[in-house]
Amino acid sequence: MDKKIVSVRGAITAQNTVKSITECSVRLIDAIYLRNGISDDDVVNVTFSLTDDVTAFYPARAVREAGHNVPLFSTLEPKIDGALTSCIRVLVTCYSDKPVRNVYLNGARVLRPDLCAVYSVALDGPSGAGKSTVAKAVAKKLGITYLDTGALYRALGLKLINFSVPSDDPKAVEKCLKNVQVGIKYTDGVQSVLLDGEDVSGKIRTPEVSMAASNCSAIPYVREKLLSLQRDIAKSQSVILDGRDIGTVVLPESEFKFYLTASPEERARRRYEELKAKGEKVTFEGVLEDVNKRDKNDMTRKIAPLKKSYDAIEVNSDNMTADEVIDYVVGIIAEAL
Ligand code: C5P
Repeated sequence: MDKKIVSVRGAITAQNTVKSITECSVRLIDAIYLRNGISDDDVVNVTFSLTDDVTAFYPARAVREAGHNVPLFSTLEPKIDGALTSCIRVLVTCYSDKPVRNVYLNGARVLRPDLCAVYSVALDGPSGAGKSTVAKAVAKKLGITYLDTGALYRALGLKLINFSVPSDDPKAVEKCLKNVQVGIKYTDGVQSVLLDGEDVSGKIRTPEVSMAASNCSAIPYVREKLLSLQRDIAKSQSVILDGRDIGTVVLPESEFKFYLTASPEERARRRYEELKAKGEKVTFEGVLEDVNKRDKNDMTRKIAPLKKSYDAIEVNSDNMTADEVIDYVVGIIAEAL
């Protein structure tokens, strides 16, 4: 496809200091370049506009001083009731041969319900970071659908265990899962996972299934199998998906992306308490070992490894309660709705 002239939009919220405006303006341009595969050589011009509460510095100057040699322009926006405050917007006109990818950072997207009724929230992070607790509560507070994507991998892991198939053997896994049916059912907003028609929600939370899920999730055939199911659910309704690759692979266009993490020890402690409460016979050391092993599996696999999307907001929950994390996430989303 030939390159043609396109315009890419972007926005970011900033504080009214030279440092914040400088950092945010440069971050916004870098994200637009990265996401659209462009460089200064492709750019025709860059126009910034600012709300009247972020005027401590001009983004055009910040971007020039960061070394971008392109025509730059900054202007002030008229005040509009109800509009997002502390916001830097940009329009980058450039040559490109790819579909335009607009970039909204720091919750800067204004999702007026009449303009954008459907939105998605990507919540990624390592195992035991509290993703499902947070995602469930956020979904409830915002009245959107929650999809626990780990449960899908767990259902496949369970099938492999049931059929005594080694979960790290790609050929055997593909053979066993060729005709598998994985589905999701919602009853009063609560998700159940169906494996070949059977509700297996109560059987997929054991350490054995966790490890089988982690192993088989590194196999391209398995990831491909679950991709369209996840995307289909996000197509027609507002959703929050928790997983490992939601912001990077499954829904890279998500309006809101969070990366929820915590230290391995803290995550193991939480998982240990959870399993003990369920009457499982586990030791803390054993759970910590599993956490480290799964982290390694998830972060080093070739396909869709666990990593923070460049435009995700990182939340470290080591010293935060679940309610604090939930309020923080809901606050960012609600502010932009
Ligand atoms: O999140 P949960 O611990 O239930 O996920 C089980 C396993 O499934 C993870 O260790 C991970 O390997 C895999 N998974 C994944 N991608 C996702 C969700 C889960 O690879 N989106």
